[in-house]
Amino acid sequence: MAAVKANAYGHGLVRVARALDADAFAVAAIEEALILREAGINRPILLLEGVFEAAELPLCARHGLEIVVHHPEQARLLESARLERPVRVWLKIDSGMHRLGLDPERAPAAFQLLRACPAVAPAVRLMSHLARADERDCAYTRQQLHTFETATAGLPGERSLANSAGILGWPQTHFDWVRPGIMLYGASPFADSLASDEDLRPVMTFHTRLIAINRLRRGEPIGYGGTWTCPEEMDVGVAAVGYGDGYPRHAPSGTPVLLDGRAAALIGRVSMDMITLDLRQHPEARIGDPVVLWGEGLPVERIARAAGTISYALLCGVTARVRVEILQIPAPSPSERWERDYSTRGEDSEEESR
Ligand SMILES: *Cc1c(COP(=O)(O)O)cnc(C)c1O
Repeated sequence: MAAVKANAYGHGLVRVARALDADAFAVAAIEEALILREAGINRPILLLEGVFEAAELPLCARHGLEIVVHHPEQARLLESARLERPVRVWLKIDSGMHRLGLDPERAPAAFQLLRACPAVAPAVRLMSHLARADERDCAYTRQQLHTFETATAGLPGERSLANSAGILGWPQTHFDWVRPGIMLYGASPFADSLASDEDLRPVMTFHTRLIAINRLRRGEPIGYGGTWTCPEEMDVGVAAVGYGDGYPRHAPSGTPVLLDGRAAALIGRVSMDMITLDLRQHPEARIGDPVVLWGEGLPVERIARAAGTISYALLCGVTARVRVEILQIPAPSPSERWERDYSTRGEDSEEESR
């Protein structure tokens, strides 16, 4: 089940749903699900937080949307609903995240109640969410797994627990359905690794161009607040990107960009439409040179770490004014897939297995 909420983590909801051959899609709000249906996406779609009000239930029935039930109130809405068609329900159990979900002890009773409800399609499913799967060896994740297994033991429903971090780091959490999000977009869910460490490649490359190069004297301050001062006479580059595009305003001086393929450092404050760059190591720089902010060659995880945020927030924060260009990467042929998936794993060179 591919998580495509938040505009597919900033990559474009419909575009990503069309590109992925997923068994189901997961979104946070009914608005996202209706956009997918309107675009002709007819795979199952799950509302991860369920419905927020009774009026959404008939829409779910009409458009074949599946819903999470995480609270007795949502079960009551279903019990009093008269729907043209029953909806599929995923009963969410709170195994320790303590955000959404039923008390594990109430799970069996709730499961039976939902199974008997005419508005609920047969085969109720079971799910929970991991709070700390991004930590490599974490007793809390083992405890959540145990809680989920205990609460669902003997209940005849398909089960789902793992997000990207669970998929990559905790195979015992996979059950019947996995729910990858961030890894689909080629970023690592772990705080201590880069996408490349997980054999992932970035889907998004966020880039712009150099629009000015200015020679400034020693002691001249750069940008709003004058937070960075030229330690010598030097060239300062200006690139056309800022927090108005989704570049993090809190990226400090020293945050890397790739200027024409080589690392350069951000200096001064990020403004709405521009950033400034230290060009002392780039005497060959010219106006118009490409500047990569993150993506191919510059892991988004590094920028996130520098700016005190996470790759999720950077990816889904890219704003609407940024022009999107789609590069088609040809899908591997069946024989190439066989080669990639089965023949070279753990044998020949690492390179070949990719
Ligand atoms: C967003 C979300 C996911 C995907 O999480 P990633 O960390 O991006 O893989 C999975 N399950 C639920 C309930 C979510 O809200």
